[in-house]
Amino acid sequence: MTDLIEKAERVIATTYGRFPIVFTHGKGCTLFDNKGKAYADFVAGIAVCNLGHAHPGIAKVLADQAERLVHVSNLYYTEPQIALAEWLVEHSFADKVFFCNSGAEANEAAIKLVRKYHKDRGTPERFRIITMEGSFHGRTMATLSATGQEKIRKGFEPLVEGFDMVAFNDVAAVENAITPETGAVMLEPIQGEGGVQYPAPGYLEKLRKLCDDQGLLLVFDEVQTGIGRTGKLFAYEHFGITPDIMALAKALANGLPMGAMLAREDVAASFTPGSHASTFGGTPLVASAAVATVKTLVEDGVLENCERVGGYFKNRLLQLKEKYAFIQEVRGIGLLLGLDLSCDGTSVVKKCMDRGFLINCTQEHILRFIPPLVVQEREVDALLACLDTIFEEMAADIS
Ligand SMILES: *Cc1c(COP(=O)(O)O)cnc(C)c1O
Repeated sequence: MTDLIEKAERVIATTYGRFPIVFTHGKGCTLFDNKGKAYADFVAGIAVCNLGHAHPGIAKVLADQAERLVHVSNLYYTEPQIALAEWLVEHSFADKVFFCNSGAEANEAAIKLVRKYHKDRGTPERFRIITMEGSFHGRTMATLSATGQEKIRKGFEPLVEGFDMVAFNDVAAVENAITPETGAVMLEPIQGEGGVQYPAPGYLEKLRKLCDDQGLLLVFDEVQTGIGRTGKLFAYEHFGITPDIMALAKALANGLPMGAMLAREDVAASFTPGSHASTFGGTPLVASAAVATVKTLVEDGVLENCERVGGYFKNRLLQLKEKYAFIQEVRGIGLLLGLDLSCDGTSVVKKCMDRGFLINCTQEHILRFIPPLVVQEREVDALLACLDTIFEEMAADIS
């Protein structure tokens, strides 16, 4: 294994600080490394494998589709892409879908659409977009410029022009940032990489009204929160409002690369033949996996499982908070949960890993739990027992 890792470090660009594990296969919420050690997976490829690993239904659809047709071009039509777009339109606020391959690309499409929409309406000066501090929208030049985290932007200046950042959860800050050049407000309804930051009561509803009053588009980046992660198909459903544009990716095809930008008809109309494109966007192979993924989420009770186990999980985390002073807050909904620590969280991730549990940490001190949505209470219990042991040691070290 060391051999393999040495090899990797020689030839793979060092954009990730990786843990020294080589995974070979998985099943449901369990991953196995090349030494045969099993890990309970509470990361799910960062909120990607919502149906778990090696889902038999998805594997079958993929194998069948691979034997029929993998790729043509978007110069032509294919059935899986049409079926997926139809499903997404039927189950969301949107009327039109643009397919791409990642979250960054879905957000890029959204940013381009905002600009084109205002140009088409004779207000080309309205190209600026208000985004949030602590946000994460991707690593392309435009999406990193939209991202409200210095560490993501640093070293890549000059940034793409046109993004104005304000504090998350502050409606007045958005109001004050609006100028005659503002065209949209873009945000994650729940910030994921920012540390599972949950919107304050009324915040998103007020932003919706503000956008309506000011003729601004409201763009939701649901790359992480969408496709069932919060117990509903899309996080906006929790708040009784709809965005004008929404970006999806991560879980859309349960691990195959796919992004999508959804929009209302009158907004989407600004994309015409030639205005935007993607070679791989919505290939029959990936689209067939996505159709199977979204149908399984709804038809196999996966959303209900997410809501039930997510509620159970959150209660168990709240119990843990009662016990340890260094737990500041438990946040999130469904299976997008965060444990905000007043101490370092990265060492907890390492200790969990040694004990066979994969968890994630954002912003150095917020433990994030984003398991497959098919996770069961007993798997949550096992993780909680592990965390309790680790926290007990930490509490002993502190005192
Ligand atoms: C992961 C993520 C992205 C970027 O997605 P990529 O597929 O890595 O480009 C964008 N926005 C949010 C909210 C994300 O969680």
